[in-house]
Amino acid sequence: ARQFTRPLNDLANQWNTMLSAIAGAERVFEVLDEEDESKDEGNAVALHRIEGEVTFSNVSFAYDVGGDTLEGISFQAKPGDMIALVGPTGAGKTTLIQLISRFYEPNGGTITIDGRNILSIQRQSLRSHMAFVLQDSFLFQGSIRENIRYGKLNATDEEVEAAAKLANAHSFIVRLADGYDKQLSADGSGISQGQKQLLAIARAILADPSILVLDEATSSIDTVTEIKIQEGLKRLMKGRTSFVIAHRLNTIRQADRILVLKEGRLLEQGSHEELMEKGGFYHALHEGQLVGM
Ligand code: ADP
Repeated sequence: ARQFTRPLNDLANQWNTMLSAIAGAERVFEVLDEEDESKDEGNAVALHRIEGEVTFSNVSFAYDVGGDTLEGISFQAKPGDMIALVGPTGAGKTTLIQLISRFYEPNGGTITIDGRNILSIQRQSLRSHMAFVLQDSFLFQGSIRENIRYGKLNATDEEVEAAAKLANAHSFIVRLADGYDKQLSADGSGISQGQKQLLAIARAILADPSILVLDEATSSIDTVTEIKIQEGLKRLMKGRTSFVIAHRLNTIRQADRILVLKEGRLLEQGSHEELMEKGGFYHALHEGQLVGM
């Protein structure tokens, strides 16, 4: 899952450079958006509302070098579905979610959102309907309040706090000496890994996206924080289409649909029960203890 953080980290670096040069997050957004917009197709549209139906039809993808990283991927996520991506390292899970957020484009097949080819949706518009909660959540130099507000730049302090409460982040924030005004460094030193995730969840709740991309943490987080994170995630995911690179059996079991990837192919898909009944690769993975994969 490492690779996925790369484009976002680039964005974060760009972001930090610009923050030090100019004041005001909104200006930074404008600059990033202008760059993005120039790459949109002439007839690309902005979508103001999306339901969150996502369909892959025979999608293939290759990075510049080597053969296909993904081949013949077809599945459908209905609005509000939780989709778990499982499979060994290098199977293509990260690449698949990068295609949904259009960091890359398919070489073959189509991806549609609410029935519309994502190539015909303006990038900025597409991303405004998506939020990411990744293992390395990207924080920037600024207060905790500003870091959460990044999810919705015109949010009021009340909205920021309401999101933090839903995310289970509020209680740790108010216990900090400066509370919401605590300054974070870009690497988020001074708060724990788990607390960073709670902030990422708060930010995503504030963004109110229709589509969520989550990369479940593999690093060990204390049990109490872990429970808070799971609860916050549950609230965040409710009513949104979510794609989770899942490592925990508990998460995978709850998915509406599990996509089992291996070497760039979708070997099996279905619910936990369906796949267990089938007795195929998922079943074998499960018997060999899927957890920690
Ligand atoms: P997973 O998330 O399941 O571990 P990835 O989608 O990260 O799998 O990787 C799938 C394959 O694509 C791997 O063989 C990986 O080495 C390759 N890959 C990933 N990112 C890149 C990249 N930026 N350039 C070239 N190859 C890549």
